[in-house]
Amino acid sequence: MQATDSLSNYEKLKAAAEAEGASLFGVADVSLIKDGFFVEPKSVLSGLDYGVSIGVRLAGRIIETIANKPSKIYAFHYKRVNSLVDEIALKLSNHIQKGGYSALPIPASYVEDWGMMRGALSHKEIGRLAGNGFIGRSGLLINPEYGAAVRYATVLTDMPLKLDKPVDITCGECAACVAACPAKAIKKDAKDMDLEACRELLKAFANKAGIGHSICGICVKTCKGK
Ligand code: SF4
Ligand code: SF4
Repeated sequence: MQATDSLSNYEKLKAAAEAEGASLFGVADVSLIKDGFFVEPKSVLSGLDYGVSIGVRLAGRIIETIANKPSKIYAFHYKRVNSLVDEIALKLSNHIQKGGYSALPIPASYVEDWGMMRGALSHKEIGRLAGNGFIGRSGLLINPEYGAAVRYATVLTDMPLKLDKPVDITCGECAACVAACPAKAIKKDAKDMDLEACRELLKAFANKAGIGHSICGICVKTCKGK
């Protein structure tokens, strides 16, 4: 396969994603990390060495409705944006299959193991490798332009594609989300994050009228990117 084919495949797929409403698109080599994906049987991952990271931006004015708790309209919007990014992943998968290649779309909020609250893979890590952002203190994927307010899905494929590179940016001196988190879950060092404290607060929010699922949005609102 020629480099020109990889570039042409990339450009066509990116144009298709953008035409369907994607705000962000990037491609990562996942060959070295796919053994860690929670997909069974492992044989379905055979040859799927490219991870296409697709992002759809949340609406800024809806993010503004989040105060010290998620708003009802944010909860609704979050689900709709997940549906849109999942639909784009499906359409790209069909486009890939039409070209004679294989595709495995992984939806935005898909949970493989509810006990462990574990997805099939980390959209954030693939998004990072695909150049869509860096992992911030909040543990979220932070896009330099859109901050944390983006929902991501991934398509794994064997279609040869040009690869993107991770961005060379960090939180730097910013610690806005550390101060903003009502559960005090976010620490200066992302590896010290108190996931249990975050989960407990999400559970409490999920039980509020009109919310119904585990979301918060405060650290999403706080991070404006770099
Ligand atoms: S989702 Fe809410 S509770 Fe969890 S880290 Fe972000 S701000 Fe804190
Ligand atoms: S708000 Fe600041 S510290 Fe938190 S993730 Fe964003 S850039 Fe990093």
